[in-house]
Amino acid sequence: MFEALNTQPPDGLLGLIKAFNSDGRARKIDLGVGVYRDAEGRTPVLKAVKEAERILLETQDSKKYLGPEGDIGFSALLQPIIFGNGERFAGRIAALQTPGGTGALRLGAELVRSANAKAAVRVGAPTWPNHVPIFSAAGLKIEAHRFVVLASQAVDFDGVRQGLAKANPGDVVLLHGCCHNPTGVDFSRDQWREIAGALAARNLTPFVDLAYQGLGDGLDEDAWATRLILETVDEALVAYSCDKNFGLYRDRVGSLFVLARDLDETAKVMSNLAALARVAWSMPPDHGAAVVRIILERPALVAMWREELDSMRERINGNRAALAEADPALAFVRNQRGLFSNLFLSKPQAAALRDRHAIYCTDSGRINVAGMQPADAGAIVAALRAEGCIADKAAA
Ligand code: PMP
Repeated sequence: MFEALNTQPPDGLLGLIKAFNSDGRARKIDLGVGVYRDAEGRTPVLKAVKEAERILLETQDSKKYLGPEGDIGFSALLQPIIFGNGERFAGRIAALQTPGGTGALRLGAELVRSANAKAAVRVGAPTWPNHVPIFSAAGLKIEAHRFVVLASQAVDFDGVRQGLAKANPGDVVLLHGCCHNPTGVDFSRDQWREIAGALAARNLTPFVDLAYQGLGDGLDEDAWATRLILETVDEALVAYSCDKNFGLYRDRVGSLFVLARDLDETAKVMSNLAALARVAWSMPPDHGAAVVRIILERPALVAMWREELDSMRERINGNRAALAEADPALAFVRNQRGLFSNLFLSKPQAAALRDRHAIYCTDSGRINVAGMQPADAGAIVAALRAEGCIADKAAA
């Protein structure tokens, strides 16, 4: 039967990693793969994580199954960090641990399809390349609207308004809670207020993807929009990832939170999430979520984690400032947030940066600003100018 399969194109990022690793040039800069790197170019295990792993190793006395909802303490302790303190949503949030933010997105998509197979998912373009395939794989229809004006690096709010206006009641609207991937362009607070109002007025269901909390402006600041949305609407989904802000990438740590109208509906949602998880992965992997729970249970480890998160964020924003200061044409990079900015290069330009300058970014021009050192800014700007990547935009 396998002769019927078509070969799938390889993931572009994997090819980029391979090419970077086999590049023998002494000075090479990896702005490709989306992981945080420190001042030595490493992606280290956080100290708070190491300490929690030590505690886990010493205290774990069984590997027996968890239920399909995973580590309940993990999802419960994340809630005040994401949704803030207080009882605003008391009892109305169903939570289930998932394999990464990806698992949360897929499970949320399956829940939407179970509840309303006719719902379309409204997605701003560009977006994380895995979003559309995840929602399509769950059988949902996708409707795209414009999100960013390429030349000005600004939100195309008319495009967003039009997208929302075309949505039918019951449709789902995908929103990046902070640190937009791949552009780093986030909505202003006024824009978020308008979006929240439109969602509530038109009976649209927000699906917030929050994969970078704490890496933009701070834990509370990066959750501001998510909290506003949840305060404004009756129903919402939030796909959360701890893989970036706890540096746990390969341990696949995430959670899906679903806000429902009342206690009965929350219980119904929870039973559906458990049933959907049961047929997808049965139960999520334990290790990473247990590590996060152990950190969040201990104020000393929370303080250690927050300090490490602060320093990651400061380094990212320092790199942003270095690029902006190196060339006025890159001034926009300073105002963007998270790991990514998107220079909207052509494929030949991205290839020329790789081949002639040993600077690696995706073919779409997405750069991971955490992949550089502040001292690299001059070389990056010189290469961008040499290949005509920013000259026109400076003049515009
Ligand atoms: N959403 C966005 C916007 C992302 O960038 C990513 C990771 N690249 C994810 C979700 C998925 O994260 P995870 O690795 O936890 O599956």
